[in-house]
Amino acid sequence: MRGDTTKVLIAGGGVAALEAALALRALAGELVEVELLAPEPQFWYRPMSVAEPFGLGETQHFDLGQLAAAAGASFTPGALTAVDVSGKRARTTAETIEYEALVIAVGAEPRSAVPGALTFRGPADTQRVEEVLTRVGRGDIERLAFVVPAGAVWTLPAYELALMTAARVAQGPARHVELLFFTPEREPLAMFGPAAGEAIESLLRDAVVEVRTGTYVDAFVDGELLLGADGSVPVDAAIALPHLTGRRIHGIPQTVQGFIPVDSRAVVVGLRDVYAAGDITSFPVKQGGIAAQQAEVAATSIAISAGVDVEPHLFRPVLRGVLLTGSAPRYLRREITGGFGETSVADTEPLWWPPAKIVGRYLSPFLGSFAGVEVPPEAAAPTGSVDVEVKLDEEDVSGLTTRRPPLPGEQTVDDVMHADPLVVAPEDTLGEVAERLRERDAGSALVCDYGRLIGILTSRDLLRAYAERVHPSEGRAREWMTAEPLSVPLGTSLEEAALVMSGHGFHHLPVVDDDGRALGVVGLRDTVRAGALPRLHIGLGL
Ligand SMILES: Cc1cc2nc3c(=O)[nH]c(=O)nc-3n(C[C@H](O)[C@H](O)[C@H](O)COP(=O)(O)OP(=O)(O)OC[C@H]3O[C@@H](n4cnc5c(N)ncnc54)[C@H](O)[C@@H]3O)c2cc1C
Repeated sequence: MRGDTTKVLIAGGGVAALEAALALRALAGELVEVELLAPEPQFWYRPMSVAEPFGLGETQHFDLGQLAAAAGASFTPGALTAVDVSGKRARTTAETIEYEALVIAVGAEPRSAVPGALTFRGPADTQRVEEVLTRVGRGDIERLAFVVPAGAVWTLPAYELALMTAARVAQGPARHVELLFFTPEREPLAMFGPAAGEAIESLLRDAVVEVRTGTYVDAFVDGELLLGADGSVPVDAAIALPHLTGRRIHGIPQTVQGFIPVDSRAVVVGLRDVYAAGDITSFPVKQGGIAAQQAEVAATSIAISAGVDVEPHLFRPVLRGVLLTGSAPRYLRREITGGFGETSVADTEPLWWPPAKIVGRYLSPFLGSFAGVEVPPEAAAPTGSVDVEVKLDEEDVSGLTTRRPPLPGEQTVDDVMHADPLVVAPEDTLGEVAERLRERDAGSALVCDYGRLIGILTSRDLLRAYAERVHPSEGRAREWMTAEPLSVPLGTSLEEAALVMSGHGFHHLPVVDDDGRALGVVGLRDTVRAGALPRLHIGLGL
């Protein structure tokens, strides 16, 4: 605390960062001093980028410095690269910044998930989609595929693109064009529940979009969509959603894909005064509304630490979405209340106000007023839409992390695993871990909390820490480990274990029981020796 104020550093300049800044100002007023740190001087409002190729909307961007000032925060250009948690210092590309509370809201990076397909990441790709539409109009494309890859969890833009393309095709000369939609979901928009599912299915049927659910697309090669064991499908072009990964921030536990695990108060698991919100967290739904809810939770937790008398606010995700369809508007709502039954309704009125595509308690009205209108910038879009609101429960969320089902195999990990792996505690220092790795001549240690596997620390992680000048007796396993590591249960076929390892470049894979307790480790070499050589190297999307 500086006098009576708590210095809060927010790394990021997107949805979660702005919502956190606004919530902090609203909750804690002058008790906090807020600094926003981001490499880009713009705030991008991306949802309307799907409508841009069809001339039905426009991606908006705002000057971040001006937004920060209006939100009562300062703005520093730069990117967070590392955090010294015990010293409460954030290292950026340009300097070191001291903080009392840190919010990491750096978003995620979209990467191509289906090699050969056009990856739609947002504003940067609208022109390429426009080019595809032009080719459709010219008659160069007769079969066009839209692909949701395994692991992509914000599927809405793919449905919007398909429906708006269908609407465009229906109005033009190229009516014979076939539109196909591939998704690993068990039903379209599964996460939104039955009401939205029925609505989207009937919209897709009316739009004559052929949907194949439970399908995993590996690549688009020589006019063929490769579906792994399910063969291939000829198409002339394919538009796919990206696979998201998190940016590396040294000193912060991150998952294999770079995401940061947080608890229900948005605290980074195992760390003090460090919070995370938005797409960078390991919560599997990467969506603006969810990002804003996490940011509000983080702001409330910080406000309480700063001495504000406010009710604790726990993360209880509610999913709200507006689906642009290119046809008449329809509004849907579903609540899954975890034990209180389920309601699923369809309505003709918006379900929240202002009716923004990204819903943030503070951000939506703020952006609206900043843009000089009562509602957020995209609300006047002339296209049809479907609004969806759903409370997520644990089962919904775990069902979202789509994974290729295990391949059949005679041998299982049980046959070859090493049942006595090196286990260290989250509080162990890097020096202690290094010593034990040397004693056991091992390359990695499992980090377990009361027996439950929470991370893996490898000699590579130790090197990263030493390169950051971390002292061996100061750095802790919990700060430098890979959090929530990929693991497999007993009974997993060796071939699947080999696939997971080769797909991620691992040499070791933990084996856990139903409660997440570490039982052993299987090595890639063991799987090769047993003859379970991986057949596939792409499209795992885990
Ligand atoms: C095409 C498309 C359509 C979408 N439609 C919807 C929709 O309809 N509804 C919805 O709710 N969501 C939608 N989303 C998702 C939504 O945009 C994201 O979930 C949301 O922006 C995530 O917020 P965030 O703050 O976590 O990340 P972002 O908004 O991506 O912001 C990340 C910020 O961090 C900054 N940054 C990056 N690295 C660093 C660093 N090292 N240090 C400091 N700052 C850093 C970036 O410059 C950026 O300012 C859509 C996304 C796309 C791409």
